[in-house]
Amino acid sequence: MAARCVSVGVPVPGLGRLTYRVPESLPLPVRGARVTVPLGTRAVTGCVIEAAVAPPDSGTLKDIIEVIDTDAFLPETVVALALWVAEYYAAGPGDALLNAMPPRARTGDASAFRRVPVAQWKTEMEPEGSSPRGDTRANAPLPRKTLLRGDKQRVAADLLQQTPEGVPLSALRRSGVSLATVRSLERAGLVTIHDEIVERDPFEAVGGADRTQWTLDGTTPEGRELTPEQAHAYRHLEEAVITGLFRTMLLQGVTGSGKTELYLRLADLVLRRGRRVLVLVPEIALTPALAGLFRARFGRRVTIQHSGLSDGERHDQWHRIRRGEVDVVIGTRSAVFAPLDRVGLIIVDEEHDHAYKQEDAPRYQGRDVAVVRGRMEGAVVVLGSATPSLESAANAAAGRYDHLTLTQRVWNKPLAEVRLVDMRQEFAAHGADVMISQALWDALELRLSRGEQSMILLNRRGFATVVFCRQCAATMECPHCSVTLTYHRTARKVRCHYCNYASGIPKACGTCGGEFLEQSGFGTERVEADVRARFPGARIVRVDRDTIRRRGAIAKVLTAVAKGEVDILVGTQMIAKGHDFPSVTLVGVVSADVGLGVADFRAAERTFQLLTQVVGRAGRGDIPGEAIVQTLYPDHYSVKAAAAQDYAAFYAQEIDFRTRMRYPPTIGLINVVVRGTSLGKALDDANALVTLTRQAGARATVLGPAPAPLSKIKDEYRAQFFLKGAHRRAMRDAIEHALDQRPDLRRKTVVDVDPYSTS
Ligand code: ADP
Ligand code: ZN
Repeated sequence: MAARCVSVGVPVPGLGRLTYRVPESLPLPVRGARVTVPLGTRAVTGCVIEAAVAPPDSGTLKDIIEVIDTDAFLPETVVALALWVAEYYAAGPGDALLNAMPPRARTGDASAFRRVPVAQWKTEMEPEGSSPRGDTRANAPLPRKTLLRGDKQRVAADLLQQTPEGVPLSALRRSGVSLATVRSLERAGLVTIHDEIVERDPFEAVGGADRTQWTLDGTTPEGRELTPEQAHAYRHLEEAVITGLFRTMLLQGVTGSGKTELYLRLADLVLRRGRRVLVLVPEIALTPALAGLFRARFGRRVTIQHSGLSDGERHDQWHRIRRGEVDVVIGTRSAVFAPLDRVGLIIVDEEHDHAYKQEDAPRYQGRDVAVVRGRMEGAVVVLGSATPSLESAANAAAGRYDHLTLTQRVWNKPLAEVRLVDMRQEFAAHGADVMISQALWDALELRLSRGEQSMILLNRRGFATVVFCRQCAATMECPHCSVTLTYHRTARKVRCHYCNYASGIPKACGTCGGEFLEQSGFGTERVEADVRARFPGARIVRVDRDTIRRRGAIAKVLTAVAKGEVDILVGTQMIAKGHDFPSVTLVGVVSADVGLGVADFRAAERTFQLLTQVVGRAGRGDIPGEAIVQTLYPDHYSVKAAAAQDYAAFYAQEIDFRTRMRYPPTIGLINVVVRGTSLGKALDDANALVTLTRQAGARATVLGPAPAPLSKIKDEYRAQFFLKGAHRRAMRDAIEHALDQRPDLRRKTVVDVDPYSTS
């Protein structure tokens, strides 16, 4: 007898594929369908991986509880992609599969469509007086007026007759038609009321920030000629698309060199050839701008997918994509799993951005998964950046990717002039509490007097980063994490940026009772306060995670800046990325060194990327821009190369450092973090895993264990060890083997393949 067994992935860390029996009362589910299965005492939503498997030799099988989907919920490519992610990133298959679904689908909610009651004027089978030609719509309703009683009904009837497809009751209410009136029309047999599925459209809510209105020269995009450099790059891209095979192209172009323009043309070409386009951007805040450009060219067949949408919007748009109603999907990293078929082009914009790395299970790198998807789909993958990641640049250097470059801004608009300010000299001259140098004050004042806009960047929010006691020097630490608390002045609180713990400022030191608490270190809130005090008449806006909480808020700020309603924009890296501000002529970087000196092998890369991006923000319009970069390390190669806008120089030094120190991309790296109720316990467990991993023959160097730089987060202590080697599969297998021997440690252990955050 054929076994009615299926293998299922469930979203529980550390669980592989589980085999269940399908009772005769249920249909056999297909691969990619959702099912409800028993797990311990719970029932969870899982995804079918294999539709007909042999029953295991031993043990009793549990029955599936429910088959949610009769067809595959996830298309085959997405199932295959998710399983690749599970394998490569050492995640559970269930985690990876459910991660590829929109949020509500993960809980098996099949009724997540929004239904609203709609009233519709009856057009056929009318009680009396239908017109002889059967033309019963708006131009022939008169005879029926006789049935109407009173003004209210007449107003309602007019509205409904003007909209034969029906009007939601909520809209009628807004027009002053009460439910009672509609019901009375229903009783009279003139109107039907029924539920209709309405689609929630993310473009309505996001709005604003339409980049098309900020073009440099006022020409329409379609009427433009490409610059010679653009044309050269485009010929290569075009050829790849026409060949119709998988190929990855690194498009390295300075900010403002016209990469986006190339994306649009390429997308147009792909669509005309009957295939579809996936566009990834690193941040939610960047989607409206790019989506606006795509919508302007390709209309309603463009949609967005990211976690900033409401669950409902995401659900509706996901199903539109699944039904084949969408040709272009723009979204953040999770959109790499969009259920789009016939994908011919995948664009990863700002491919170097660390936001492509997911820091929860499954810990995938969206850009790298995009390349894998491109291979599966036979699509062209374009990785665009002004400052390519070391990974992509190394792939290009090795010939695995094609390398296209745009070295000049469109119509040779010059890049900003960069001035480095050595803060050590500034401290020597004006004291150690100087935050903004004389050079930056002068430059700000000049812009204000000319009516031009400035931007000030500091990659740290809050007012002061440390609160300490003048008597015993104790610092205020988070009770749950091994970090100091940040002082937020407006909120009158100290707050932990890791667990969000907050408390009022105590009157006295918790350690010695001393009454003089002081602050040091500064963040964006302090910068804003100082700039306001200096220029009381200026219009100043701060953008960071404290001020931008609600969705759409950043779009509002961007629009205000574009309209010239802001003089000085102060913010964290949120303002550095991608946004196009033609009239910003000055960019000030308060401290280029936030991040340097941290135990992170990517620190120099992060610094170089951020500085280059932010400098690229200045002078996009007609007036040349200036950037003032304050630093304690003016001689550091990442700062120098960024000031010179010299990517090649940076790459040469950085790849040399990575090669000598055996860091990615010259080698594979896996970070294993073991959590525990005490540091000693975490270290002991990590030690046990290190021993077992070594025994398993990882073909790698195992370093550690040691306390993680952040040794305590949210009341959990953390120890970590690293594997460095050329064979990722052998490394992963060895860790898997170790965890198989110590299943009790599975839940306490986080395995991070190709890690970004090693603290
Ligand atoms: P990037 O994506 O490389 O930062 P964009 O594609 O946004 O650059 O181009 C920068 C600016 O130049 C935009 O305002 C864009 O509309 C404009 N632009 C791009 N290509 C051309 C062109 N060939 N002719 C005229 N303007 C262009
Ligand atoms: Zn904390």
